[in-house]
Formats: sequence, structure tokens, C-alpha cells
Amino acid sequence: WSCGATERERTLAMIKPDGLSGNYTEKIKEAILESGFDIIKETVVRLDTERASLFYAEHSGRSFFNSLVKYMTSGPVLVMVLERPDAISKWRALIGPTDARKAKTSHPNSIRAMCGLDSEKNCVHGSDSRESAAREISFFFGDPGSERVEHDEL
Ligand code: ADP
Ligand code: MG
Repeated sequence: WSCGATERERTLAMIKPDGLSGNYTEKIKEAILESGFDIIKETVVRLDTERASLFYAEHSGRSFFNSLVKYMTSGPVLVMVLERPDAISKWRALIGPTDARKAKTSHPNSIRAMCGLDSEKNCVHGSDSRESAAREISFFFGDPGSERVEHDEL
């Protein structure tokens, strides 16, 4: 189906370990709701080295990869499925650039400017494309189609 500009979309949002330990959860959720997203699902999980490496597999060859995995496994994370029209790009815009130091000057109202520290410890994650959003939502919440498929096969 299609309803043009009002067609809703889902993205994966995550409050990373520094966001949770810094007690930014309520502020971040306020910003999410004020920006017109619905929080469809949420769960707190602790990633282990294997799961964090799998989540960030696209960066496995980068110099910062081991440090990134250590950061992401340093404490629990809060993952959420957010929904609204144009959710993927709207959430990326709300969180701001990857480097939280740059965010503080170029995007002072962004979430990373509010609670991030640097190019690694940037307190939140957002899917960067429809493909990433589908993969990342399945990664934490399972395949949304699987229940229906099983039912149809009965
Ligand atoms: P984003 O989270 O904005 O999509 P990337 O996908 O490029 O950014 O990187 C994934 C995560 O890896 C970042 O959010 C950040 O925590 C970490 N990271 C990215 N670039 C660097 C870097 N140059 N040095 C250290 N950590 C980095
Ligand atoms: Mg990314």
C-alpha cells in the first residue's frame, strides 16, 4: 500500500552504554516523542563481543573496530523501534553527525551534541538506510514476517 507523504516507516534507535550510564534516557525519549516518533518496541540488552561484532560487521576492517566493540559491550544498551513518516532520515537528522565534538558546534540541538563525547562515544545509534533498518530491527526483535508466514502455512 502507499499513502504518499504520510506513509509510515520504521527505524532502529539505540541508546549506547554511555547514554544509559549518563542517565540520558528520559531526555532522549522526550526528544523522540516531541519529534513525532512513536516508540513501537523497546528492550534493554547487554551485547557480548560476538553480538556487538556482528551488529557492526560492516566496520570490521576499520582501525577503531576493537575499541568500538569494547565500548558497545561496556554496559547495557536500550534499543527501540521508532515509527513515523520518513523515520530513517528524520532520526539520523535528530541524532546529528557521528563525531559528537563536531555535533556540538554544527548541530547544537542534536542528541549527540547533548550527550555524546567524541567520534566513538556518541551515545546513540540510528539506521542509515531501509536495508540497515530492516536488518537491525530483525537483529534485536526478530523477523516481523515470520509469525505471519508460520500462520499462513498452517
Ligand atoms: P554512525 O553511527 O553515525 O552511523 P558509523 O556507522 O560510521 O557512524 O560508525 C559506527 C560507530 O563507530 C559510530 O557511531 C562510532 O561509535 C564509531 N566510530 C565511527 N567512526 C569512528 C572513529 N573515527 N573513531 C572511533 N570510533 C568511530
Ligand atoms: Mg552507521
